[in-house]
Amino acid sequence: MRIAVFAGDGIGPEVTEQAVRVLEKLGLPGLELVEGDVGGMAYRKHGHPLPQATLDIARGADAILFGAVGDFSCDNLERHLRPEQAILGLRKELGLFANLRPARVFPGLEHLTTLRREVAETIDLLIVRELNGDVYFGEKGIRTLPDGRRQGWDMMSYAEDEVRRIARAGFDAAMTRGRRLCSVDKANVLETSQLWRDVVIEVSAEYPEVELSHMYVDNAAMQLVKNPGQFDVIVTGNLFGDILSDQASMCVGSIGLLASASLAEGSFGLYEPIHGSAPDIAGKGLANPMATILSAAMLLRHSLGMEAEAARIEAAVARALADGINGGDLGGSAGTREIGDAVVERL
Ligand code: ATP
Ligand code: MG
Repeated sequence: MRIAVFAGDGIGPEVTEQAVRVLEKLGLPGLELVEGDVGGMAYRKHGHPLPQATLDIARGADAILFGAVGDFSCDNLERHLRPEQAILGLRKELGLFANLRPARVFPGLEHLTTLRREVAETIDLLIVRELNGDVYFGEKGIRTLPDGRRQGWDMMSYAEDEVRRIARAGFDAAMTRGRRLCSVDKANVLETSQLWRDVVIEVSAEYPEVELSHMYVDNAAMQLVKNPGQFDVIVTGNLFGDILSDQASMCVGSIGLLASASLAEGSFGLYEPIHGSAPDIAGKGLANPMATILSAAMLLRHSLGMEAEAARIEAAVARALADGINGGDLGGSAGTREIGDAVVERL
């Protein structure tokens, strides 16, 4: 088992260090960690935000633990040299097509949500968003019509194999959780969504244990706020998933707690906190490493098949939070190292 560790910029190295301590504390036999350079720090060292050596490390690993990239001093560089290109390049080069974002409210943190407490308490869901297709990647442009008006257009499309593989990612994720999958589309008006729905239903035959439902995206947005407890796993396209996953994040509260995975076909994946490099607090030991620690738990679950170890990490984080170990993002005073210590102790 080899895990590539790409800590990156800003608070990336600080939060990744604590996640690595947690992984090491588990004492997994045969676990090898290999570090690589990404982002602004890689640009300064090698002249590129995603050097070939880093890609090679990624390809030779079973999974990637990623910190964050982003660096103001690179703002004036050409686009392909900017730190953010590292993550886009990794997505493309490694075929990462499924983005998973769990959202749950940890006991004791109900006050952070934008929802009523009794509603917030019920949230424990996972959004599986397709990453490589949809309206973001279709033909697009701005043209001038014969009558002189300008018209912008972006083509939405999904091929059936693209839907099939994200549907499988959704069903696979549901199998590791509550075995309920809600496919979100807009099949009442979009042809793309009609094909999406047909293919999801077809794939569901491979997963008789999973209960499948369908919801229109407008209703899903409403239900996420009204009755989020009804959801286990949501699978949806790139555009709808972009919006719904940010909405779900705000329903649960702090940025320092939210993990994510980007999966390729098979078991390979990249795991990172949803927050960025947070230059305002970088180097001060203030960043909350819990989102990165929870990303490491996802890595164990989805890429290494270690459900028990993943659950152990999540339980340790939940216990630390319940014991009042809260970072600044949660209104507490615990620093990066202190939070890492608290999680390691509770493993
Ligand atoms: P990027 O462009 O890299 O995504 P951003 O400006 O969009 O960066 P973040 O870097 O995520 O956003 O930071 C947003 C705010 O949240 C900042 O004020 C930052 O200090 C805070 N923040 C982000 N991550 C953490 C964390 N792990 N712990 C505490 N505060 C955090
Ligand atoms: Mg950001």
